Amino acid sequence: MSHRSFSELTAAVQVLNVSMFPLYVIRGEHNAMIDCAVLAKAGEIEERLSALLGGEGLAMVLLTHSHYDHVGACSILQDKFGFQIIASRRTKDILENDRAVAFIDDLNQKFKALANDRGDSIFTKPREIRAVGENDHIPLSAGRRLEVVETPGHTRCSISFLLRPENILFAGDAAGVVETNGRVKPLFLSSYSQYEASLKKLLGLEAEVLALAHNTAVRGKDRVREFLDASLAETRALKEKIISWLGQTDDLTRIAERILDEEYFSPTLMGPREALMINVTAMVKSIYHEFVKIP
Ligand SMILES: [Zn+2]
Repeated sequence: MSHRSFSELTAAVQVLNVSMFPLYVIRGEHNAMIDCAVLAKAGEIEERLSALLGGEGLAMVLLTHSHYDHVGACSILQDKFGFQIIASRRTKDILENDRAVAFIDDLNQKFKALANDRGDSIFTKPREIRAVGENDHIPLSAGRRLEVVETPGHTRCSISFLLRPENILFAGDAAGVVETNGRVKPLFLSSYSQYEASLKKLLGLEAEVLALAHNTAVRGKDRVREFLDASLAETRALKEKIISWLGQTDDLTRIAERILDEEYFSPTLMGPREALMINVTAMVKSIYHEFVKIP
């Protein structure tokens, strides 16, 4: 299968066609990239990015959150391209914490094993991280900027970026994770209620393009709205299902196993089973604490 190494999303935004992990590069006076995918893709990203930039620099990488599959290639790419990192305060704290960095590396090593990557690459602590928050503006070039929108719920550290004036939304996993079959899966790992509120907030932005962190981008204001509506519906449906299972058993791990086996995910996209179980268990716990548990 041969792919072009990058393609155009809009006049201002190009996409590195890394399978499962499209990486968006915003061109301008200061080139910027959203997220860094997994460590296993570092070599491929470096190659495609160099081809795309053609000798220009990469001034910054903006991280939507701290998950291992969004930051994995970050430290290796930072060594090559020397960019500044822009992230939420929580993401910055996590990436500056030794134990968290070791955990992120561990999940990346497991992903590499799944991907038959036997190289000795490791994830190390990234440098030069600048924290941003709600309504902060990041200027990119004359008349073009990114606005920060806090969208917690997928994780506590999740933020989205809205490119102005084009209204292109980079939401990380806050809008849900779309599978290769086009279905969107909810991933409310830190809080169901915050995740639902963040989805509504994203709907209110009326973006022209929704640039998802996995597999695809959605173009056109109407299609973006339809996608986010569908994501919201799937989110509420999963909540109802978990609540009904919690009525049958209080074994949260068994419910998580059942969701993983019956409902979720293609491991090719979602990584090692350990990471999946962490994610699904977190969703069950969130529903339990926010809707079922009697305080
Ligand atoms: Zn994530």
